Amino acid sequence: MKKIAVLLFFLFPFSNKAQVPAVHRMPAIETMVEDISKGSLESYLEGLVSFGTRHSLSQDGETRGIEAARQYVLQQFQSFENAENGRLTSEIDYFTVEANGRRVLEDTRMGNVMATLKGTDPSDDRVFIVSGHIDSRVSDIMNAEDDAPGANDDGSGVVALIEMVRIMCRKSFPATIIFVAVSGEEQGLIGAAHLARRAREENWNLVAMINNDMIGNSASSGTEIRNNTQLRVFSEGVPLMETEEMAALRRATNAENDSKSRQLARYIKEVGQRYVDQLEIKLLYRNDRFLRGGDHTPFSREGFTAVRLCEMNENYYQQHQDLRTEEGIRYGDVIEHIDYEYLRKNTAVNLAVLANLATAPSVPEAVGVDISGLSNSSLLRWQAPEHGIARGYYILMRETSSAMWERKFYTEDLEMELPYSKDNYFFAVQAVGEQGAESLAVFPRPVR
Ligand SMILES: [Zn+2]
Repeated sequence: MKKIAVLLFFLFPFSNKAQVPAVHRMPAIETMVEDISKGSLESYLEGLVSFGTRHSLSQDGETRGIEAARQYVLQQFQSFENAENGRLTSEIDYFTVEANGRRVLEDTRMGNVMATLKGTDPSDDRVFIVSGHIDSRVSDIMNAEDDAPGANDDGSGVVALIEMVRIMCRKSFPATIIFVAVSGEEQGLIGAAHLARRAREENWNLVAMINNDMIGNSASSGTEIRNNTQLRVFSEGVPLMETEEMAALRRATNAENDSKSRQLARYIKEVGQRYVDQLEIKLLYRNDRFLRGGDHTPFSREGFTAVRLCEMNENYYQQHQDLRTEEGIRYGDVIEHIDYEYLRKNTAVNLAVLANLATAPSVPEAVGVDISGLSNSSLLRWQAPEHGIARGYYILMRETSSAMWERKFYTEDLEMELPYSKDNYFFAVQAVGEQGAESLAVFPRPVR
């Protein structure tokens, strides 16, 4: 039965050129998604909040403070290193943060806890990063003493990483995935900035970075909304790091809604919703929220493609609050407020997206739209991806006023002419791998 389904999948969508292909769940990814367990997310979170505070300046202590929590996460990662088929290594990347007179008053050692699932293709240097932040805080940003359980902010993001490593470490992907619990988010995105700088200096081929910060709370404060069926993805439109040349190209092509981070956001919405039921992913056309920042931003500043995943509704009684009860309201980011079904779904979005990305070939190269003459059709051209094998390509099309790609055309050639004017639609091209996994979409440059 399964074989027939797989066969149909290969015959049907790919033999009908220029039609919308049926997009199926890949069984390998579906199985991993089904493996995500609310019970295991809960037990990791109980472990994480047991260290009292994970404030970045709460350094020492075997059973309390951020270093003990880092060791706990490292031990979880290490426990998967022996898994069958294991290609996993884990470490803490320590660094010293110099006193800055703001949120770090004396030189402080911090560390990012990293699990690296090495790709199986030695010629494929692509890296994907998924993050959460291990540090937590209470009302006073400098208070490293009082309990700061940080169950949702950002224990939820960190336990999602552990659960993904548990499941994904037994699988093989041609490209490398790094799962990282960064430190120093609340003190100024310090751990993420350290990693982003390192990736830039060491010339990593970092294709995409996904920051998970608060993905386990479904109850809003003030508006009393309870909703575990929507997830936000924040992405920059005009890139934070944009050269003059990039800006000129953006203006010439009206690509202000087609940055690489926006393409990643669309990809997350499409693939996330493909694999996760009862979840709508909302595209937020902004880098982050008012008054708040996130660990994707240092990556954006370094010119990488990076987005933030965040719950739909925030609870300000719980974020960055001293634990207390006032006028019947229980303040503080305690574990009792976590919605594990919501956290499971949001973890599943990450897993499905990363698995699909790391399975897919890299993007098609030199993607262009021919503007050598006036025409009511559109000719797109590209070259094969640098990594992996593309069995074909999707040309994506949407109205210039639409948020998501609306039509897909499939070809096995390196160009395609469509009977739609390039003046009236936006296009992009994705490479499609043997099993159907798509690369990120590439917005074309004008070519002659
Ligand atoms: Zn946070």
